[in-house]
Formats: sequence, C-alpha cells, structure tokens
Amino acid sequence: MEEQGKLQVLICGAGAAGLTLAIDLARRGLSFRIIEKLDRPFGGSRGKGIQPRTQEVFEDLGIIDRIVAAGGLYPALREYSEDDSYIEKSMGEPRDPSPDVPYFIPLMIPQFRTEEVMRERLAELGHRVDFGCELIGFEQEVGGVRARLKKGAREELVHVSYLVGADGGRSFVRSVLGIDFPGQALGMRAIVADVGLSGLDRAAWHQFNNGDMARVAMICPLAGTDLFQIQAPVPMEGDPDLAAEGLERMITERTGRSDIKISSVSWASAYVMSARLADRYRVNRTFLVGDAAHIHPPTGGQGLNTSVQDAYNLGWKLAAVLSGAPDALLDTYEEERRPIAADVLGLSTRLLAGHRRQGGMRRGGDTHQLDIDYSGSSLSYNGSARDARFHAGKRMPDATLTGAAGQPRRLFDVLTGPHWTLLMSAQDYRPAVAAREGLRAVTVGHRAELRDPSNELGLTEGGFLLIRPDGYVGATFDATGCHSVNDYLARCFPLPTPERQ
Ligand SMILES: Cc1cc2nc3c(=O)[nH]c(=O)nc-3n(C[C@H](O)[C@H](O)[C@H](O)COP(=O)(O)OP(=O)(O)OC[C@H]3O[C@@H](n4cnc5c(N)ncnc54)[C@H](O)[C@@H]3O)c2cc1C
Repeated sequence: MEEQGKLQVLICGAGAAGLTLAIDLARRGLSFRIIEKLDRPFGGSRGKGIQPRTQEVFEDLGIIDRIVAAGGLYPALREYSEDDSYIEKSMGEPRDPSPDVPYFIPLMIPQFRTEEVMRERLAELGHRVDFGCELIGFEQEVGGVRARLKKGAREELVHVSYLVGADGGRSFVRSVLGIDFPGQALGMRAIVADVGLSGLDRAAWHQFNNGDMARVAMICPLAGTDLFQIQAPVPMEGDPDLAAEGLERMITERTGRSDIKISSVSWASAYVMSARLADRYRVNRTFLVGDAAHIHPPTGGQGLNTSVQDAYNLGWKLAAVLSGAPDALLDTYEEERRPIAADVLGLSTRLLAGHRRQGGMRRGGDTHQLDIDYSGSSLSYNGSARDARFHAGKRMPDATLTGAAGQPRRLFDVLTGPHWTLLMSAQDYRPAVAAREGLRAVTVGHRAELRDPSNELGLTEGGFLLIRPDGYVGATFDATGCHSVNDYLARCFPLPTPERQ
C-alpha cells in the first residue's frame, strides 16, 4: 500500500458541498485533496435552485457571473386544469432590487452545471477532483486522521490533519463515526428525470394535476440546456420505468396528452423522501457537511444551498485553526450550522405538506436564506449600543459607498476574499487597530478611505463593525472598543504562542 506525506485536509465527496470547501481551501493556500468515488462527474439536474444567499457566497468564491450566465431564471408556473385550460403564477413573491440585496431572485441552473463551474474554478486555483477514488476506512489519531483510499485495484494510506465527510445522504464517514441520523420517512416517493422532450414550450414550468398526489406531473425546462426535468410522485412499492418509453407512458396517462413525446433520458432516479439530521457534525478531527449531515424533501430548493453554506462556514474556521487559532473555533461550526439545518428540515417538510394539501410550488422569502442568523452563536458579540443598525450574527448587507477619490465602491467588493473586515468610523485613513495578516481594516468617514454618503452603514462616531470571512457580522464595538476588538480577534486568529496543528 502506498503512503503519502501529510496533507492538511481530505475532502471526501465532490458534490456541491465538497467542491465549495475545496475552492475555499484552495484560495486560502491550504494543502488538501478532494476525492470522489464516481469515475466521472455526476450528471443529474437535481438541486437546480440557487437561492439569493448562495449567490452572494458564489460572488465571494468568484463564480457568480459564470453561474448566472450558465443558468437562467425560473419561468412562470403553469397549472393546467382537467379541460387543458391553465393559469400562470410566478414562483416566488416579487421583490424590488435594493442596494443591500444585490441578488434577490432565485436562479435556476442544473446541479451538474453548477458543479462543472465549481470544478473549473478549482482548476483555476490549481486543484482537481480525484475521480474514481473512494474512502474505504479511516482512524482518528493524535494530531490527525489516517485514511484508506481505493483507486481501481490500488490502495493508498493518507495522513491528514482533518477529514471532511462531504459524502452525501448515505455518508460513509457518518457511519464510521457512528453518528446517529434520526428523523422520519415522509411516506412519499418521487422520480426525477432529465429528458429530451417535445410538445411543451420552454416558457413555463408545466404542472398537471396539482394537489392530486397520485397523478401530479411537473415538467420544467432546465435553464441553460435543451432538457426538461420531470418530477412526479410514484407509489412506494415497485420499480418505476425510467426509460424514455416508460416516462412517456406515465406523462400521457397523467396529462391525457399524446403530443408530449420523450426522445431521450440523460439521467433519472427514484427516491424516497425523508427528513433527517445528524446528531453531531464533528467528532475530533472529522466533520460532516452537506447532505451527509442533513437530508430533507426538495420542496423549497434548500438542500444544495444549505450544503454549500455548511462548507462556506467550515472553510475559514479550518484555515484559521490550521494556522494556529484556538481549536474551539471549530466547535462553532456545529453550533452555528446544525440549528440552521433543523430549521430547513422544518421549512421543507411544511412546504411538502402544503404541496400535498393544496398543490402548487410557491416559495416565499423564507427560502432565500438571506435571513440566516448566527445571533445565538458564541462567536457573536454585541459591544455597541442596542439600537445599532447591525447586530452580531446577522448577514452583513451590501451598501453603495464611495472610495476616497469619489469612485463608486460596493461594500461587497471590500468584503470579497478570505479575510476578515474591520470597518471603523474615523476622521482620516489611519486605522485604530493594528494591521495583522488576514484582517482588512478599513476606515469610514468624511476624510477616510471609504465614504458612506447615504449613511447606509450608519457607523456611530468611533464605532467598529467586524465582519467575518463568511459575510456575517462577528462583533460590534463602540468608541471604547479598541481593546475588545483585539480580545475578540484572539479567539479567531493565531494565538501569540501558537499551539500549531
Ligand atoms: C429531486 C431533487 C431536487 C432537488 N432540488 C434542489 C433544489 O432545487 N435546491 C437545492 O438546494 N437542493 C435540491 N436538492 C438537494 C441537492 O441535490 C443536495 O442537497 C445536494 O446534492 C447535496 O450536496 P452534497 O455535496 O452534500 O452531496 P452529494 O451531491 O450527494 O455529493 C456527495 C458525493 O460524495 C461521493 N461519495 C460518497 N461516498 C464516498 C466515498 N466513500 N468516497 C469518495 N466519494 C464518496 C458521492 O459519489 C457524491 O458524488 C434536490 C434533490 C433532489 C433529489
């Protein structure tokens, strides 16, 4: 068996969660490997909805424009009646753009395209997925994890500081760790299939027999492709026919239309819906992210988004601890992300129940994930007045500022990158907090680096706003907060006498 020198992180699984973590670690210059047991990229559309908060994450990771260009918007929902007449509804509640929310509409892009864009980004950063490589065993030891990999007939032993199980709902990592995955089966099975199809236009998401769970058929044109995605509940027992003829027969039976023809099936699957949440997200040096930690029905389009944001929460913490920050920072990953997944389980299960009762697929603003909140986290510290505009744990909104030369500057441009950002109200450009690696300290005021002409940040005189690398407010401080800023940073930055990993 071959043995490799020690890496910092092994990512098991190259779905959306594993790829997000890989991009984040790559841009931070960490040594890692991302392995995927499939021989080639996954080819299905399943998680096709990208929520506004995930779009902000994608901006930070440098892929948002490619994702938008490769996908499109959700079309109107077209609900057909028995007599073939129909009504059209928009999928979500319309909302106007505003400077604080640059991405306010969910996007549609098939999951295989999203992952393709992510792999391209990863290649730009000098890394590639190791396909056809399976994690077949691991043991935690002092200072690291020893993992056994299998690639074809060859076995390999790797030593890493941390292992991340991004290996989906049937997670091997979770089972080796013996972490319980309690929850409930929801008594519903469905098929999803990506097909070449004629007889329906691409201007709408066609929905037949809404509310009749035995006969519903939803046929959605997949943005950025020539394909349609079929979703339909099927009986719990038996093998649904997922070949083109079988799917066409089902569509004809459910719609009464013989003009809808299926010419090809590029991917199809039948799955049973359940809602489950892992008891723990961390055991020593091993973590779970994405579907490995939580699964729930696809109603609400939350799974891929929650998975991406798990990885985005873990990435900067792993990097910080690997460069000497206190290990306790890594405990805040489960502390922050597990309650979010519990809420997502509740939301998607409620939406599924509504879908069963009334039919329809409308999604409200609560699915956009912009109000995800870490206020209760031990990392959130409110040191400024209670009536301050921004509170620790909340997402930092975008703002339209100007640079010192009067040029337009979005706040998100300042936040983009792997660093923390300290916004300081000041009379000039000189920061009140000493520079340190990984912290961008920016003054805001009349003669400072950034100007806030519409008072969107609303920084009080002498106030500080500390924004985490993942775009959430970490802490707020008032004019006397200079020492507190340094105390706070000591929890997230390398210790003075580092106990290195
Ligand atoms: C019909 C349907 C519709 C959906 N719609 C949406 C939607 O609109 N929006 C949304 O956000 N989500 C949606 N989802 C959910 C979304 O697809 C998942 O949440 C998402 O794929 C989770 O990503 P992941 O990276 O955690 O896991 P996965 O995508 O499952 O990736 C895990 C990877 O790990 C690999 N792996 C497993 N074991 C090993 C091992 N031992 N060694 C190496 N590799 C391994 C697997 O091969 C796999 O490629 C939908 C799901 C379905 C089924």
